[in-house]
Amino acid sequence: MLDCGIHPGYDGIAGLPFFDRVDPEQVDVLLVTHFHLDHAASLPYFTERTKFKGRIFMTHPTKAVIRLLLGDYLRLMTMKKGAGGELSQDDDVLYTEAELQSCVDKIELIDYHQTIDLNLPSGLKFHALNAGHVLGAAMFFIEIGGRSVLYTGDYSMEEDRHLMAAELPRYHTSPDVLIVESTYGVQVHASRAEREARFTGTIERIVSGGGRCLIPVFALGRAQELLLILDEYWKDHPHLQSIPIYYASKMASRALRVYQTYANMMNARIRSQMDLGNPFSFSHIRNLKSIDVNTFDDRGPSVVFASPGMLQSGVSRQLFDRWASDPKNGCLIAGYAVEHTLAKEIMSQPKEVVTMEGRRQPLNCLVDYVSFSAHVDFVQNRDFITSVNPTNIILVHGAKEEMGRLKGALMLQYNKLPENKRPTIAMPPNEVEVKLIFTRRRSAKVMGKLAESPADDNDDQVEESKAKAVVEPREGDAVRGILVTQQNSSKIVAPEDLSTYTPLRVGSVSSRLHVPFVGKIETLRMFLGEMFRDIEETREDSEADVDGADDEGVVTFSIGSQVKVIAGKTKGVATVEWDCSPVGDVIADSLVALIMHAQSSAASIRLTGRPCRHRSKKAREGDLENQSTAEEHLRAVHQALSDQFLSVEATYEAMKGTFEVKLDANDNASEESNGLVCTATVEFENILDGTAKVTVECEDEKLAANVRGCVQNVVAASAPIAMD
Ligand SMILES: [Zn+2]
Ligand SMILES: [Zn+2]
Repeated sequence: MLDCGIHPGYDGIAGLPFFDRVDPEQVDVLLVTHFHLDHAASLPYFTERTKFKGRIFMTHPTKAVIRLLLGDYLRLMTMKKGAGGELSQDDDVLYTEAELQSCVDKIELIDYHQTIDLNLPSGLKFHALNAGHVLGAAMFFIEIGGRSVLYTGDYSMEEDRHLMAAELPRYHTSPDVLIVESTYGVQVHASRAEREARFTGTIERIVSGGGRCLIPVFALGRAQELLLILDEYWKDHPHLQSIPIYYASKMASRALRVYQTYANMMNARIRSQMDLGNPFSFSHIRNLKSIDVNTFDDRGPSVVFASPGMLQSGVSRQLFDRWASDPKNGCLIAGYAVEHTLAKEIMSQPKEVVTMEGRRQPLNCLVDYVSFSAHVDFVQNRDFITSVNPTNIILVHGAKEEMGRLKGALMLQYNKLPENKRPTIAMPPNEVEVKLIFTRRRSAKVMGKLAESPADDNDDQVEESKAKAVVEPREGDAVRGILVTQQNSSKIVAPEDLSTYTPLRVGSVSSRLHVPFVGKIETLRMFLGEMFRDIEETREDSEADVDGADDEGVVTFSIGSQVKVIAGKTKGVATVEWDCSPVGDVIADSLVALIMHAQSSAASIRLTGRPCRHRSKKAREGDLENQSTAEEHLRAVHQALSDQFLSVEATYEAMKGTFEVKLDANDNASEESNGLVCTATVEFENILDGTAKVTVECEDEKLAANVRGCVQNVVAASAPIAMD
């Protein structure tokens, strides 16, 4: 949420933003650009009376001033309620002093140019930029969901007596969205010198004629600038020095202390003055702490700065009510006046006005308007928007008609651009959503090992490539790795690099299953050997002489690098150990089944009395056992062929089988033919790893291919599974 103000023209709940249109619980962060009431005054209501649980950020001076200002605003509201009796419902005071304090305690600080990353899934990141306007005013450059938004808040491009001009977001690419104030629409300010001359001239004319001059101001912000101007003018015009200037604000001294504290954030001019003395300790302006207008010594000409700036209530309104009917007096509006306020109303010079008590009285005093509100004018705003160069523009903070004129003027300018380069411009009314469509960006950075050139096996070249700089993959190269998407940015890394380049950590889960097995280890060895190839076997003597245990000790069978079967450690149990992985899990499952099968077959194995087939590198030639196993496999081949072809005759000879395959003569087109004949021979070379030589002889290539396929499948299926 950006800013959290009130409408200065309405009191209580009526002045709140349409909070019921948002779900406060969903708001992660609230950024407040500056301390003006239209940007900050509903903050305590939002933090204390809704379900908002997010974080709040603003600059140091904004936080310092907000504490003062909102306290004052609260007093004013309570006072008004007490005096007018109009607002009798307790609910309509937006927050209590205690709630204000609790809210202020939650505010976190951000410096200009400091980037804050909240580590949210949306990737929300933001930094503040100087916005000019008032002390501590900030623009926010926000990155969210892979897109960027610049929100200007209120800003000014003119350096004045104490503030710097707003800065352009220099180090960033153009934002996708610019949310920009449009207070002055297409109006162009008169030059500063002209406005100052008119301001001081009007005041001088009024007080020289014996009148009182009221300058309604917002207690903090532009008031300080006007005080600096007038104090300087009085200094330069000694004949005016007998006429008092009052700054009627309860906060006057505290406000000026805040201004002194943050002078380092102001422009060079004020900082150089700081070296000589306090530029905010004025020689011709008196702070008027007592706001009691009735005891105020109101004889002869005077100049009074009083808040609030739009004459809604308070001291400025009391003085206005008292002075408005005297033609000698004057009221000088120096800031922006919002609709529904008296300041705005008197600018159209009505003949009569209504006092706070509801009495009608003639408006005879002089009313003049000189804008010192530090908002950009049309030219400054247009130049800023042009240099920021956003893809989408959203106009906010202005009256509808003026905003419409600004939109029209901007469109006219952008019409010179080709259509696809023109930014969109929206000026949404309250409660109307702006929908912007972005195409999704699809890119991922290749990082770590994968970004290096593949290592070469040749030693010399490895040396050479180590000496050279790392070579990146070229365009068109394929990479294989893990895609990690976090906060809208993706990268591809090698599994080993996960912990270096991503917050992910790699772990493994080891599993161990105890399977009942009371048979002999050699039985287990035989079953395992038939199922898997290249089993590594290690043996240890068992620590305790377990009664009735195998004399083989503890035997560990390693199937591939992933799964182990341990037998002989605990009586009656074989243990399967593996690191969980899709392959490891499947192998472990099959091993458990195999061990249970070996257990149930143990008795029959003992009966056949097959000698154990120790796995060894040297195949034992002429081993009868091998021969019988080979014959078993050959019979399987015969069976498979018989299932597919009409007639198959088999002859066996040691490790070799010959199969004569005949196709049914009747199936063949030629009656004279005896049918096709195909001869296949299978010769096992090493029964332990199941390798066999297969030859097929046939006139018909198609039949030969069929027979060869069938034979090879059966041979492969009966061979133990290789684990590499
Ligand atoms: Zn403002
Ligand atoms: Zn504003």
